[in-house]
Amino acid sequence: MFLDILDKFSPILSYLLIFSGILLFAIYLVKKNLLKGNKEKYNLISRNEKRVIWNSIILWLAALLIYPKKIIPDVVRLNYLLDFLIVLILALSIAYAVYYILKHYYPDYINRRLNRLRYKPRISPKTGRPMKLLTEEEEDVYLDEGMQAEEDVFSVDYDVWIDEDTGYTQIEKYSGKYAIKQCPKCNYQTFKIEKEELLIAPTVISSGELLKRYRCTYCDYTEKEIFNVVKLKEEK
Ligand SMILES: [Zn+2]
Repeated sequence: MFLDILDKFSPILSYLLIFSGILLFAIYLVKKNLLKGNKEKYNLISRNEKRVIWNSIILWLAALLIYPKKIIPDVVRLNYLLDFLIVLILALSIAYAVYYILKHYYPDYINRRLNRLRYKPRISPKTGRPMKLLTEEEEDVYLDEGMQAEEDVFSVDYDVWIDEDTGYTQIEKYSGKYAIKQCPKCNYQTFKIEKEELLIAPTVISSGELLKRYRCTYCDYTEKEIFNVVKLKEEK
């Protein structure tokens, strides 16, 4: 009974999953190509591309899993369970291979593309001519104090492009080397952990408490937050 239903609906479900995977990827490509600005493209690629690739692969592998009949030729088909196991191993191997590529090779590839987008000369809307990217030393004049404080703690990296004919500037924001929280008061990404203090040490029977003190390197606003520390594992 159950197998009959599976037999009947698995092809439809399988094709639906394949189609969803293609659609997901296609929407991403269309979105990327519709974006005009290099910075907008940069943001989309850095935020979404890896996730879109992974999700599409998962959808295709799910399609494989629910429709093993299509993949294993009739002559060598055994039974549902064995077919499923074979396809499961196949799907897991593909998933692992994709995961490995995304983890080890993909970052270099995406960074090269992102750098190209980031450093491609911006066109001045005033004159239509290419603008010049200022160096770290030159750009400070154009950044406010909060932005400079962000650059000092490496949470944000600003690029300042200048149109040398008209003095028109364009400032672009990129994430820096370190992930630093946004200050709740001044909103700059300068809210750093100043001190960590163990209030209650964890034991094997009870969890502990850790106090984190944050201080904004720009406006000096401070805040305390208490975190739980997990129980210690009993030694055997
Ligand atoms: Zn602040």
